Amino acid sequence: MYAVLKGTHDIILDEADYYSYIEEVLTRVCISHNYREFRTPIIESSDLFLRSVGDSTDIVRKEMYTFLDKGERSITLRPEITAGCVRSMVNAKLFANMDYPVKAYYLGPNFRYERPQKGRYRQFLQFGVECVGSTSPYRDAEVIIMFNNALKMLGFNNLKLKINSLGDEETRINYKKALNEYFGQYIDSMCEDCKERYKTNILRILDCKVEADREIIGKAPKLSDFYSDESKKYFDSVLSLLDKVGVEYEIDNTLVRGLDYYTGVVFEYHYTSKSGQNYGALGGGGHYGKLVKELGGPDLEGVGCAFGIERLASVMKDDNLLEGIEQGLDLYIMPLGEEARESCFILSNFLSLNGYSNDVCLESKNFSQMFKKAERRRAKYAIIVGENEIKNDEVVIKNLATQEQTNVKNSDLIEYLDEEFGEHDHEHEEE
Ligand code: AMP
Repeated sequence: MYAVLKGTHDIILDEADYYSYIEEVLTRVCISHNYREFRTPIIESSDLFLRSVGDSTDIVRKEMYTFLDKGERSITLRPEITAGCVRSMVNAKLFANMDYPVKAYYLGPNFRYERPQKGRYRQFLQFGVECVGSTSPYRDAEVIIMFNNALKMLGFNNLKLKINSLGDEETRINYKKALNEYFGQYIDSMCEDCKERYKTNILRILDCKVEADREIIGKAPKLSDFYSDESKKYFDSVLSLLDKVGVEYEIDNTLVRGLDYYTGVVFEYHYTSKSGQNYGALGGGGHYGKLVKELGGPDLEGVGCAFGIERLASVMKDDNLLEGIEQGLDLYIMPLGEEARESCFILSNFLSLNGYSNDVCLESKNFSQMFKKAERRRAKYAIIVGENEIKNDEVVIKNLATQEQTNVKNSDLIEYLDEEFGEHDHEHEEE
């Protein structure tokens, strides 16, 4: 027996159905906002993440799966997808050929060597978007609102959207100076991580979760007192757009996020399930001012956001938001006897070619065992074929919800099913 590696997990059966459902809803919302899919490699040059995510972040300092390949190149399993996605836009020269903004959505596994705990894995799935090429409060608001809608469609109520602005360069230079002075008085008594952050990335001290440090952080200078006129105006415009569409938010001046490329507005979606479980932020993102240029592209800005599918699935399971998404089979086919088995085998193939999901019992089972199988597969109808049916060139169709059954000629079968499933809003009718 081999166990899965620590921090990884198998996504199978119902769990996989849940993931597909969540991914499908998110994808649909993005497509409806004219986002296009980007699939970039899982392995990238380590340097890409040093440049983008930042060499002072926890992700780059402690969490990357980095190795030398056989050609002695330093390779990293991507810890996030924004860097690769923006790199792909630059490489494909999309900023020269396409209308701005370039809108991308992505889905795939990421790797971070973190301590595994509730809602935290070493391999996890992220769904996200990047909207690149436009510096506009409208675009920042669009991304925030789009995911707010997507989460509503998934059934989330009582979402908590935390939002902050890191201001522009002038804001951050002045603010960092003030923080430097303030934390300078206390840093000796703060945690080891904060000592490190004090030297490398002082803003990240604001994110520290250590109780004793929180008290010191609570009295630190407030970022909002340092906004330049321009960054205050920009932030207010984003907030006003959220107000106009009725998206509720909470301004959190200590929200910094763990990736260095963010510059202006940053945000996170939080949710506590009814039983009080909190798996950490469901998703988060923000505006980036320098990333595109840093990766060799033109001087364009962007905004992005990413969600962890594991966390979404966990809270949705806790709050029964995934109930009733099971599709079940359209049909379960039951042959009675050897001769019928062969006809049913052929019939099964014919029905799937016509778009009806089905399964056929090819093992020797009695009638009641076959009905049990149909039930376990959540089949809507059973198709029964015995000697008589073969002789008469027909099948028996039984509606498993109402128990009504009818004999239908093989030549009329698809027409009959189309009508039956049409009544139940079957997807064949929608196409
Ligand atoms: P980030 O890329 O750090 O901004 O994270 C965005 C989202 O990805 C988070 O809100 C989580 O939902 C998810 N996420 C980040 N790290 C992990 C992890 N180690 N395990 C599971 N989900 C994660």
